[in-house]
Amino acid sequence: MRKPIIAGNWKMFKTAAEAASFAKEVSGKAEVEGVESVICAPFTALPALTEALQGTSIQVGAQNFHWEENGAFTGEISGAMLQELGVKYVIIGHSERRAYFAETDETVNKKTLAAFQYDLTPIVCVGEKLEEREAGQTKEVCKEQTVAALKGLSVEQAAQVVIAYEPIWAIGTGKSSTAEDANEVIAYIRELVAEAFDAQTAQSIRIQYGGSVKPNNVKEYMGQSDIDGALVGGASLQADSYIQLVEGA
Ligand code: PGA
Repeated sequence: MRKPIIAGNWKMFKTAAEAASFAKEVSGKAEVEGVESVICAPFTALPALTEALQGTSIQVGAQNFHWEENGAFTGEISGAMLQELGVKYVIIGHSERRAYFAETDETVNKKTLAAFQYDLTPIVCVGEKLEEREAGQTKEVCKEQTVAALKGLSVEQAAQVVIAYEPIWAIGTGKSSTAEDANEVIAYIRELVAEAFDAQTAQSIRIQYGGSVKPNNVKEYMGQSDIDGALVGGASLQADSYIQLVEGA
């Protein structure tokens, strides 16, 4: 009943021209019935990407935005600016933004709430650091981040959120979490959603795994009971590998 979602997170890669040629390569291919396919690109590539993917089922996402409607926020991009371009998703609270750009649980929550004003589906990232994992704090950290992110959402809104569970030690390292371990944490996050909202919302919300997902391991994750897709960095940058990820879902 939950539609699997593969989202590419390009991070700070690809110019507008590179994004347009990627779009040509994946059109008609990274489109599989029953799977949602989303590419989250740098701001400057978004106009070219939304234009090149028009008429396909592949959706476009941003990697960040500011929760205020407009104002004196030099260097920031608003939800209205994304909406105008036809952007439908936005990654919120990626661990790189939490680590390098001072994102907190509070800003993540503000952005999650604001996303709905602009018809943007939030992809909210949560996950523990290596030290936290080793100290047995994985669930505690995920609880804190998840509960804070979803605070103040209506039940209807919460059901539409996508959560990406990304253990930080698995991002870009080639050290992916085992599918079983990822499923256990994701099932726990689903329980948290049930506690904060209700059982039906918990059953509707989609929770992805992220961290060194590749075409050769995506099926292992997708075979788990609670994993509804993947947020993919490195392996989403090549058209052929992105296509295989969507097919693998
Ligand atoms: P990775 O990145 O697939 O390169 O590990 C995942 C992410 O940061 O979302």
